[in-house]
Amino acid sequence: MRRPMVAGNWKMHGTRASVAELINGLSRQVLPDDVEIAVFPSSVHLVQVSAELAGKAVVVGAQDCATEPQQGALTGEVAAFQLLDAGCSLVLVGHSERRSLLGDSDEVVTRKFAAAQSCGLTPVLCVGETLAQREAGETLAVVARQLAAVAGKLGVQVFERAVIAYEPVWAIGTGLTASPEQAQEVHAAIRSQLAAQDAELAGRVRILYGGSVKAASAAELFGMPDIDGGLVGGASLNADEFGAICRAAGS
Ligand code: PEP
Repeated sequence: MRRPMVAGNWKMHGTRASVAELINGLSRQVLPDDVEIAVFPSSVHLVQVSAELAGKAVVVGAQDCATEPQQGALTGEVAAFQLLDAGCSLVLVGHSERRSLLGDSDEVVTRKFAAAQSCGLTPVLCVGETLAQREAGETLAVVARQLAAVAGKLGVQVFERAVIAYEPVWAIGTGLTASPEQAQEVHAAIRSQLAAQDAELAGRVRILYGGSVKAASAAELFGMPDIDGGLVGGASLNADEFGAICRAAGS
């Protein structure tokens, strides 16, 4: 039985004041015990959010990490080791905004994934196709390639300590959501790709859906057999909406 997860990606949003307000709003939510809940603030707010969430059942993750796990001479980057020290237990790797706008290749994503795990962080590997790729019928091939880049280099066993997020690029921040059937097809393909190498592990790996998830669409998406929760961007900046999405993932 996989424990569902709902993760809020706050992207490059917030000030110390607005982040404090959002955490207050989250504290007022009734959150389900059977769902793992995580928030991913910008790196400048990680220490604040970790401190303000101390003792609460919401864990903290970062939105990216350096390819080098340890501190060193890499101006502007944040090492996985530093993220751990700041209170993180998770880190996103390969978010589509980083892949498409900031040049993170499959190779770079794989190095970040390995750096995160080497410090004890759980990577959330984001995969997904663009609209052009979907329209060309390449969705499953693109996602399979992104997954294989990590599994091929590091071995499938690394997914024992990782989460996968399927995020169609055309659905991120656009208000367009994949239908539950479209998402389920890709989630099932991801799971069977892992199962080809280790069926038991594949049955344990959590695969989240991301792409304009709202409270109104969450329950139907999370009701699909291979969808184990969500990675939520815009809607996670509203505590009431995010709380409702978390409850939709509960039993
Ligand atoms: C995301 O950034 O991971 C995301 C899914 O964003 P949104 O929910 O706003 O589409």
